[in-house]
Amino acid sequence: AKSLGKSNFQFFDDSLEASSQFHLYLENQLRSAIEKAQFSLVFQPKVCLKTQKVTAFEALIRWFDEGGNFVSPADFIPLAEQTGLIEKVGSWVLEATCQQIKSWKDLGLPLLPVAINVSPVEFNCQGLVDRFRQALEKYGIPGEMLEIEITESVFFEDMNKMSEILQKLRELGITVAVDDFGTGFSSLQYLHQLPIDVLKIDRSFIIDLEGNSHNEAIADTILTLARNLKLTVVAEGVETQASIDFLSERGCELAQGYFFYKPMQASDVTALLINH
Ligand code: C2E
Ligand code: CA
Ligand code: CA
Ligand code: CA
Repeated sequence: AKSLGKSNFQFFDDSLEASSQFHLYLENQLRSAIEKAQFSLVFQPKVCLKTQKVTAFEALIRWFDEGGNFVSPADFIPLAEQTGLIEKVGSWVLEATCQQIKSWKDLGLPLLPVAINVSPVEFNCQGLVDRFRQALEKYGIPGEMLEIEITESVFFEDMNKMSEILQKLRELGITVAVDDFGTGFSSLQYLHQLPIDVLKIDRSFIIDLEGNSHNEAIADTILTLARNLKLTVVAEGVETQASIDFLSERGCELAQGYFFYKPMQASDVTALLINH
């Protein structure tokens, strides 16, 4: 529990009492943020390494609490998962993303797919597929404009259930990506048991790629694996030209990272789409 929000709230000491008080404080803040819909989205482009063109975006949630402090999703998403609030957060993200895609569509802009992060915990909630179907209908957008990113997790152990849900999402036209690939689950078994389209190489392997033979070997292996399984690869956390060279030479299709674009406001995406 100690790690919760440590980067943002360094004034809390490490005692158990302080951290559980902080936990409660943050949970209450999160509840009220959900009620008041105090979230926003930013969008990070995914770039085709061959053409250098933007081909898609990833939506990332942002939250500034009552005091105007930025709280990282890396801190509050795990809390939302532990407290059962994740379904509401996830619903908000889906609605807000579809609403945004609709407004780009209404402007007559060329549409590009937007990926949303779906917590593995949400796969245990009833009606995940219905939620997606209803949102697509409500905003009149094709499923092909949505992707989901799921982190490898223990929930992948319930293969049949997971497989069924992913298959239904795919039937809606939605693309399925495994996020943070290489960091989580130890078995590769699920790769051919689950209907998956994309692997995202975790940024911990990419950020420190050049000259790090360990990370080079891992990135290389993931790219070979993906090619053999006919999966698309996205490298995340691309910050340097050297890492782009490495990835391009090995046939990595897509990249995401500060080298190309940081996550941006919807209005900046609008400008990007106008010039697309
Ligand atoms: P993620 O899905 O792996 O998202 C990528 C994170 O890396 C984002 O952090 C992004 O801003 C950051 N990033 C992108 N390019 C670079 C780069 O070149 N260098 C470095 N150092 N970082 C880069 P962010 O937005 O803070 O999100 C953190 C995590 O929180 C996400 O990791 C994801 O697991 C979770 N998250 C964010 N938004 C949502 C959401 O709407 N729903 C759920 N369930 N989780 C979310
Ligand atoms: Ca992601
Ligand atoms: Ca990731
Ligand atoms: Ca992550």
